[in-house]
Amino acid sequence: MLLKRIYRLLPKVSLDLPRHKVIRRSMASDPETTRFDFLVVGGGSGGLAGARRAAELGASTAVIESHKLGGTCVNVGCVPKKVMWNAAVHAEYLHDHSDYGFETGNVRFSWETLKAKRDAYVSRLNQIYRNNLDKAKIHSIQGYARFTDDPEPTVEVNGRKYTAPHILIATGGQPSVISDDEVPGANLGITSDGFFEIETLPKRSVIVGAGYIAVEMAGILSTLGSKTSLIIRQTGVLRNFDAFISANCTKELQNNGIDLWKNTQVKSVSKTGQGLEVTLVTKDPEKKDDEEKISTIKEVDCLLWAIGRRPNTAGLNIGGMGVDTDERGHIIVDEFQNTTRPGIYAVGDVCGKALLTPVAIAAGRKLAHRLFEGKKDSKLDYSTIPTVVFSHPPIGTVGLTDEEAIKSNGKENVKIYKTSFTPMYHAITSRKSQCIMKLVCVGKEEKVVGLHMQGLGCDEMLQGFAVAIKMGATKADFDKTVAIHPTSSEEFVTMR
Ligand SMILES: Cc1cc2nc3c(=O)[nH]c(=O)nc-3n(C[C@H](O)[C@H](O)[C@H](O)COP(=O)(O)OP(=O)(O)OC[C@H]3O[C@@H](n4cnc5c(N)ncnc54)[C@H](O)[C@@H]3O)c2cc1C
Repeated sequence: MLLKRIYRLLPKVSLDLPRHKVIRRSMASDPETTRFDFLVVGGGSGGLAGARRAAELGASTAVIESHKLGGTCVNVGCVPKKVMWNAAVHAEYLHDHSDYGFETGNVRFSWETLKAKRDAYVSRLNQIYRNNLDKAKIHSIQGYARFTDDPEPTVEVNGRKYTAPHILIATGGQPSVISDDEVPGANLGITSDGFFEIETLPKRSVIVGAGYIAVEMAGILSTLGSKTSLIIRQTGVLRNFDAFISANCTKELQNNGIDLWKNTQVKSVSKTGQGLEVTLVTKDPEKKDDEEKISTIKEVDCLLWAIGRRPNTAGLNIGGMGVDTDERGHIIVDEFQNTTRPGIYAVGDVCGKALLTPVAIAAGRKLAHRLFEGKKDSKLDYSTIPTVVFSHPPIGTVGLTDEEAIKSNGKENVKIYKTSFTPMYHAITSRKSQCIMKLVCVGKEEKVVGLHMQGLGCDEMLQGFAVAIKMGATKADFDKTVAIHPTSSEEFVTMR
């Protein structure tokens, strides 16, 4: 308590101000600049979390947001995506109803109903975020922020200037796009942002990309009844995941009826009376002759580019301020989220590392504790971050792939445990899906450094295992734990 008070008196942090008081004062070159203790650019996962924690700790705080509060996750990411995935899981399970004794008759699906309910839920969340800011007495500024050329870091929004001794950039990212110069007609397609605006279920979809967003969206569209093709440049999806997962997910996509085009790229797109015509070029690098095969998918009503994301830094004017970015525009930060300019910090997707909502949130909160509670060691540990892909069936993964473990520990020090089985849910269904599981262990004590799985329920199975792995569990610790029967997760404590 005493320490907390001492830190609150530190001059740089301006916490001698009464809580939430905003000072307006003239600056050398500007008539009026509004000053806070903490100024946050971007009202998404990282920005809001950092701002709320800072305000709780007594800092006068403002958040600037150009679009909707909640950012990518709430508006065009995790949240509406999960609603769509839940709907797709319903569609999947419909196939099993008769095996479980249900007569469901002629089931009809309305994308329109689903979208209306989903949008209403997202709007409610936007309102909750606004109320939370108000309750915390955080100033909310609507508009696009751009740094000025003032000597003291200053942000301008709609002609008004704002500054603070501590400025957080949490502007996230946006989907990468391909120009018409690179692929003629490319702009006839949409990105993941556009996916959430689709008003009716597309009859014919083409998704381009091999990352998790491409996999998830292809799965949702296909499962809900759109004939879906997935175009990938190489032979497998999720290439930065463990090879076991990458191979299995690629197979599952095909098992689920997705038309997978390997070694293929889009050559051009054109519009006809019946929809889009997507021309593809396929070239197998394994084959000696360098023959290219040209094919066309016709009558496409949804072409979706899911080819990566880029950071929202281009319009910020941060270069002149001494905030360095990498070659892709991500803000370079140290382990404490400090940028190269003192007093300016960055968290979340804009930094290009572990693009996940809980990562942005945790980094924002840790930073607030460091700046406004004097916890000078407060920083996010970026190791062993669990992540789920909402594919069909879902994927859960945490820690090192076996390749990474071998690279850092040597092949002789890595032991892999694997299993693959049909979950008991499918014992009486004609539809089947596999569950695969893998543990990556290192050293004599067989410390578990990686856990990878794909199968029914893996999305909800991962968090608990991630705790154990973060705590340094060994294979023996797993084995000592009594199994829960009958579940799929029990396989992890009985692997040999
Ligand atoms: C389709 C999709 C699905 C996803 N699914 C998951 C998932 O299941 N689980 C998961 O953990 N993560 C998921 N993510 C990733 C997750 O959404 C992001 O990691 C997270 O939103 C990053 O938070 P952030 O605060 O860094 O940025 P954002 O949430 O993107 O927030 C940045 C905010 O800054 C605003 N902004 C930008 N520039 C300015 C400016 N100059 N002035 C004012 N405001 C500005 C933007 O409008 C935006 O609201 C998904 C992403 C996508 C696209």
